[in-house]
Amino acid sequence: MKRLVWNALDEAGREAALARPVQTHAVGLNEVVRRIVAEVRRHGDKALLRFTASYDRCELERLDVTPDEFKEAEAALDPTLKAAIREAAGRIDAFHRAAAPAAVAVETAPGVRVERVLRPINRVGLYVPAGSAPLPSTALMLGVPARIAGCAEVVLCSPARADGRCDPAVLYAARVVGVHRVFKLGGAQAIAAMAYGTASVPRCDKLFGPGNAWVTEAKVQVSTDPRGAAIDMPAGPSEVLVVADALAEPAFVAADLLSQAEHGLDSQVLLVSPSDALLDAVAEEVERQCAALPRAGIALGALAHSRLIRVDSVAQAIEVSNRYAPEHLILQVAEPRVWLAQVECAGSVFLGAWTPESVGDYASGSNHVLPTYGYARSHSGVSVASFQKQISVQELTPEGLRAIGPCTATLAAAEQLDAHRRAVTLRLAALDAEVSLA
Ligand code: NAD
Repeated sequence: MKRLVWNALDEAGREAALARPVQTHAVGLNEVVRRIVAEVRRHGDKALLRFTASYDRCELERLDVTPDEFKEAEAALDPTLKAAIREAAGRIDAFHRAAAPAAVAVETAPGVRVERVLRPINRVGLYVPAGSAPLPSTALMLGVPARIAGCAEVVLCSPARADGRCDPAVLYAARVVGVHRVFKLGGAQAIAAMAYGTASVPRCDKLFGPGNAWVTEAKVQVSTDPRGAAIDMPAGPSEVLVVADALAEPAFVAADLLSQAEHGLDSQVLLVSPSDALLDAVAEEVERQCAALPRAGIALGALAHSRLIRVDSVAQAIEVSNRYAPEHLILQVAEPRVWLAQVECAGSVFLGAWTPESVGDYASGSNHVLPTYGYARSHSGVSVASFQKQISVQELTPEGLRAIGPCTATLAAAEQLDAHRRAVTLRLAALDAEVSLA
């Protein structure tokens, strides 16, 4: 990992120190995805079966997962794994239910009632990656908030294995969280199917979930088409920034850095600390622990563009973190809760030595679908609100219109929108006439 001293860097050096790895995509990725999306729109299920045969190497007769396949998946699964899926789902449910937005009603003037009511997005499409490794935890992270929001139709797509089956843990997780229909579909073709609909796959209003470059590009393309679908957020490779002081345990810090580094060659991990001794010890630990990992090759690739940054103080470390806006931020410092107040940009924060980032990926109850690539400056992770529409409502009594009518009419006149002004003034006149008749 590259070592840097923050105060020795000029502005360009600081910018470079916090730069994400450049994403190198297959040449012509946009064009390949555009073609896949167009084919799915033109030929529907036929195109889906064809792309599944060529990209997933499996010949399917139908795309939906049948009730028998769900039963077989459940029977095949280790009971301990099933229990862990149910346990995690329970905690994700508890947190997301408590954190869900509430309806609001306020009287902003006598006789003026303004409300916010919540409605679920009707049909949502969840993408659960399974190319290199199936991710049942993603089915939980997307399915639980969709269920709490009350979405009428929850569709899930995940690539089939070469034997024509979906991963049994993904299917079990989908069942536990009440997903309505699952399709054996991966890549850009899955996104196109959910955005535009085919004979088998329902058209969805909003699409959620991480995925590889083809999935991500397809999400971007369908979200910029007014006839396509909305998406949860822009996605990039996973990342963590750890702020640690001299008293942090190097083995813990190294383990947390490696848990993100093993995600992919383009993942990025940063350690920011005021202690040279801690930076030395962590660098050594990372090397030692990495050698023992099954995914050491991937982790080493990610570590090549990761950084150890020495700062003057924990306060400066938090400033660096806010500038980077990490997907995951770990505070392994004395009194981490005190420093939380200074945190302005992060997807999810982990406080103290006993809170590894892995618990947020799986089982603490928070969501793991989070903004990457600096989007934490302006975006939040997936939550129940992501599956809802917030509709505002207002209702005025005659007293209410008398109270706010003049203000409204003045502003409308200032903007030269006379019809707006008259919609108010003619009602005020009607109220005055009623009073004088009485
Ligand atoms: P995936 O399910 O995203 O993609 C597999 C699909 O890609 C296949 O079904 C196939 O249709 C398509 N594909 C493969 N090669 C293709 C080609 N040459 N042309 C066109 N389509 C092709 O699974 P994956 O590949 O394992 O990727 C999962 C990704 O999700 C990883 O990059 C991982 O880092 C990311 N991820 C991110 C987060 C996050 O929160 N940021 C969480 C989990 C996973």
